[in-house]
Amino acid sequence: ELSSDALTDLRAGLVQEYEALKAQGLKLDMTRGKPASAQLDLSAEMLALPGNRDTTAEDGTDARNYGNLQGLAETRALFSTLMGAPADQIVVANNSSLALMHDTIVYALLKGVPGGKGPWSKEEPITFLCPVPGYDRHFALCEGYGIRMIAIPMTGAGPDMDAVEKAVADPSVKGIWCVPKYANPSGETYSAETVRRLASMKTGAPDFRIFWDNAYAVHHLSAERPELANILDACAEAGNPNRAFIFASTSKVTLAGAGLALWASSPENVRWYLAQAGRRSIGPDKLNQLRHVRFLRDDAGIAAHMEKHRELIAPKFTAVEEAFAARLGGQGVAQWSAPKGGYFITLDVQDGTASRVVALAKEAGIALTPAGATHPYGKDPNDRTLRIAPTFPSLADVRKAAEAVALCTLLAAVEARLG
Ligand code: PLP
Repeated sequence: ELSSDALTDLRAGLVQEYEALKAQGLKLDMTRGKPASAQLDLSAEMLALPGNRDTTAEDGTDARNYGNLQGLAETRALFSTLMGAPADQIVVANNSSLALMHDTIVYALLKGVPGGKGPWSKEEPITFLCPVPGYDRHFALCEGYGIRMIAIPMTGAGPDMDAVEKAVADPSVKGIWCVPKYANPSGETYSAETVRRLASMKTGAPDFRIFWDNAYAVHHLSAERPELANILDACAEAGNPNRAFIFASTSKVTLAGAGLALWASSPENVRWYLAQAGRRSIGPDKLNQLRHVRFLRDDAGIAAHMEKHRELIAPKFTAVEEAFAARLGGQGVAQWSAPKGGYFITLDVQDGTASRVVALAKEAGIALTPAGATHPYGKDPNDRTLRIAPTFPSLADVRKAAEAVALCTLLAAVEARLG
């Protein structure tokens, strides 16, 4: 609403501020959602477990030896609530759930899944639905294996289900990526209605799968804890018991490089998965499984541990929100999320300026995730959405970086309006 003279004056002031920012010689990284060292320290005691003589699992087997592809029964029981599945429908693997997603896709491409007509790779081209904004590594997996992607907008309660229901009528659509709780990066949690519709919708492909990446199941940032409906139960009730593959890990519970990856599904899918995985490995690292059981113990133990994470990272999210509100509030040039959990804040800047904001920030020494990373093929058609990852830098650095990003956002918006 400002006149062009007023905008020109505003720009001059912002440029002056920006030059002063650059002169500070900052070197800050807000790109990846990594836990800070202080968070990893919360699991320091775990490294001494299970202890020298404590290597016998509940079933009497020696955790140091080969075997037990599905994972120890006590470890599967420990994560039953988190996974929303009975222990016998859970697989506990090594350190990365992304690796399990990769393997599940590759097995489906090479061998097919229960209920299908054979290898997905023989049905090329196949398609996945990709709710946006979403997780870049999901999209990279599809792109790497030649799976077409269709972007579906998120609504605040999960993906736009009208669009999803329409798209899945096409039998080439084999899957959908879902981060159903505290989504990466929007922070939203799918509503019960969204879960119900995903579980019960009619799909053209008889072997359609939901890739339910529940990476942030227990990663709360506030006392407000939105409930996520149980996808396995919803699928079974709707008569589609094999529809969901569930993934999670303790990467952001214990150690990001040395946690446990978790996989769960229907009994038939579990048998299918283990048949494939059995060719790949004789068994996982069960000492790490015992270590986690001894350290986290039970649901209460997991909750108490996650509370310590919350105490460390919630102030960083607050700092970003305060910096954005102070600088961008009421300006009409940006909107940002106030997540109740997870690892990210989304910043929607003025359309057409996200890349410019990233470039301005880079010149001022602040690394941001590239604009477009939240969309398939790295292309955000509106050049609007930025993903802010506040967990890794120190609180002071997060504050500085957020203030700088807000300045860059304003400057890019004013530049765009002046043309
Ligand atoms: N899924 C989502 C949604 C993530 O945000 C991340 C990490 O940022 C991962 C999976 C990676 O998980 P893992 O460390 O278990 O491979």
